[in-house]
Amino acid sequence: NLSDRLGTVFDRLRGRGALSEQEVRDAMREVRVALLEADVALPVVRRFIDAVTEKAIGAEVLKSVTPGQQVVKIVNDELVEMLGGEAVEGLNLDARPPVVIMMVGLQGSGKTTTTAKLAKFLKEKHGKKALMASLDVNRPAAQEQLAVLGEQVSVATLPIVQGQQPVDIARRAMESARLQAADVLLLDTAGRLHVDEALMAEMKAVAGISSPNEVLLVVDSLTGQDAVNVARSFTEEVPLTGVVLTRMDGDARGGAALSMRHVTGKPIKFAGTGEKLDALEAFDPKRVAGRILGMGDVVSLVEKAAATIKEEDAEALARRMAKGQFDLNDLRMQLRQMQSMGGLGMLAGMLPGMKKAKAALSQSGADDKVLVHMDAIIGSMTPKERANPALLNAKRKKRVAAGSGLQVQDVNKLLKMHQEMSRAMKQIKKMGGLKGLGALLG
Ligand code: GDP
Ligand code: MG
Repeated sequence: NLSDRLGTVFDRLRGRGALSEQEVRDAMREVRVALLEADVALPVVRRFIDAVTEKAIGAEVLKSVTPGQQVVKIVNDELVEMLGGEAVEGLNLDARPPVVIMMVGLQGSGKTTTTAKLAKFLKEKHGKKALMASLDVNRPAAQEQLAVLGEQVSVATLPIVQGQQPVDIARRAMESARLQAADVLLLDTAGRLHVDEALMAEMKAVAGISSPNEVLLVVDSLTGQDAVNVARSFTEEVPLTGVVLTRMDGDARGGAALSMRHVTGKPIKFAGTGEKLDALEAFDPKRVAGRILGMGDVVSLVEKAAATIKEEDAEALARRMAKGQFDLNDLRMQLRQMQSMGGLGMLAGMLPGMKKAKAALSQSGADDKVLVHMDAIIGSMTPKERANPALLNAKRKKRVAAGSGLQVQDVNKLLKMHQEMSRAMKQIKKMGGLKGLGALLG
């Protein structure tokens, strides 16, 4: 996994008080291998390593008090650049309605799902009236699939007429969108298992008659180098305006995203982060770079937490995290957030150290039910114990266990998890606290 490998390299760099040019070059060699193994295209890797090396071996960096951190920052900045720099704000809807958005990509890449996600997004965030039409006459029931999703997001879909060809469906959709005074028409096209001439001809014909404002290439980020090849083929044939990376909730985040900008020359506009129809995010290069560097997605964690809990609580927590303080009261607050944020799985990987904490938990056969137990355990402690867990000797642990209806070993597990998390918080502190981390992330 790219994050883990880069994390190892950078943990080593970060801790260093002095760095030689050779050490930087050695680290960059490791970064190069890690990027290549994560399916980042070779020219992209080469350009990246050259840019980082040139900046990093500059005299100011190596002579500075914190050379390791500076190198990490250079890598971070360069990653952000590679991913497209500033986040691109959404879609270009600047045209006479109905504005046409055409979705293209291989079969199974997530076109139909993303079409429905975008329709929901346009409706809820921009107050746009959308019409969706499936031009997929290849896959059985593909048109019905879109109709079902349309009902779920309460967006109209073009009535299905059997036996029509894609171009004819597109014409009918445009007519219908006009009649309904729709602001946006989303065309969900057919895919193939592989890029072929027939597919490209079909895409060109549909684009030709619908003059889309946006042609979005949907690619599955889990397919790595394949995704890159697909992007290259489409770029040569169809006038793309942007890319949507789906399955960014999966494990292989990074590789495909890093090549996409270079190969298509177009911005990545959205990231699909799950099967649910609200799992669509504006693609944010800074955030993704942070994730790839294994620093955890503290920004989205704090945002997510703020949306779920009271804002003051989130701020207080962020402040305490920044100070490297983290007692059992904080842990309890986190546990409650986790429960309202969708459990442990959701949090793992978002926060530095959480992966370890989660591993420690699942080793002990824990699941989300354990969150409730842990809450009970902390509830059985005195305020002093919560603020200072070191007070919990064997006798006190026994009392707490009895009070919560659980075993002493459960109390120990909780304390172990707390320790893991404290360590993670201290890591954040070492990086200069949330502020420093924020600066690092840009
Ligand atoms: P299409 O053939 O390109 O139209 O692909 P679909 O939209 O039918 O999606 C194929 C599968 O991928 C479905 O099971 C979707 O639920 C799933 N899917 C789509 N986008 C995402 C995503 O961002 N994350 C995850 N985990 N699954 C997705
Ligand atoms: Mg489809």
